[in-house]
Amino acid sequence: MENKKEFRNWLDALELSHPLVIAGPCSAETEEQLLNIAHQLKNTKTSVLRAGIWKPRSRPGNFEGSGAPGLKWLQKAKQETGLLTTTEVANAAHVELALKHDVDILWIGARTTVSPFIVQEIAEAVRGTDKIILVKNPVNPDLALWLGAVERFYAVGISKLGVIHRGFSTYEKTRYRNNPEWQIPIDLQNKFPDLPLILDPSHIAGRRDIIFDLCQTALDLNYDGLMIETHNDPDNAWSDADQQITPASLKKGLHRLKIRKSEG
Ligand code: PEP
Ligand code: MN
Repeated sequence: MENKKEFRNWLDALELSHPLVIAGPCSAETEEQLLNIAHQLKNTKTSVLRAGIWKPRSRPGNFEGSGAPGLKWLQKAKQETGLLTTTEVANAAHVELALKHDVDILWIGARTTVSPFIVQEIAEAVRGTDKIILVKNPVNPDLALWLGAVERFYAVGISKLGVIHRGFSTYEKTRYRNNPEWQIPIDLQNKFPDLPLILDPSHIAGRRDIIFDLCQTALDLNYDGLMIETHNDPDNAWSDADQQITPASLKKGLHRLKIRKSEG
């Protein structure tokens, strides 16, 4: 985990460990839950705390996030632990609130990347900031939509841009919740070689037992980072319970990963 290959452009400047580890719950549920997880993550290789504040659920009737109060918890977690923070933004109002609460990295969710108008709205809302933006692939295996979202952020002057591979929907049932079509991010990187590439094994797997196999594949493919859903009580998580792991499992799993390629 320690040896550092070539980290891409702006990521290098942040001097975070390689690979970049982003971890935290699918959703910020309560202040106590988020602070508990954040403090446990301090003992792992995690550099960035993730927590969904607004949760775009495919179907209604599920927990849709704590909303704005959760941003205060995220801010408090950052102050207490020194971790950087990230959350999903799905419209301009989310961006405005996230900026007010000093969130370091904004990510665009898979259900947002499919929508050019909404991506454009978010891009306009971050224009002129120096925020880091991470763009998840769209839910469907459509390279043009993913490229288009990246281009919209570049077009408003965002330079600290990265992408997250979270797998792609299929109608057939497979061993994955979302199929890892490894070739699609490779095709995207052929167009934009400087974009840091992060794997989200949690939403690909949809279960716990193959999270670190996916991470190892990503590191073998020279990915720059990992975003892993981590919860203090995964079985009772309010969203994505089946795929979340404890901070202790995260620590163990990260420790076992091998970086096979040597320094770039
Ligand atoms: C999430 O990160 O919790 C999430 C909703 O992810 P995605 O947009 O990849 O489904
Ligand atoms: Mn999730």
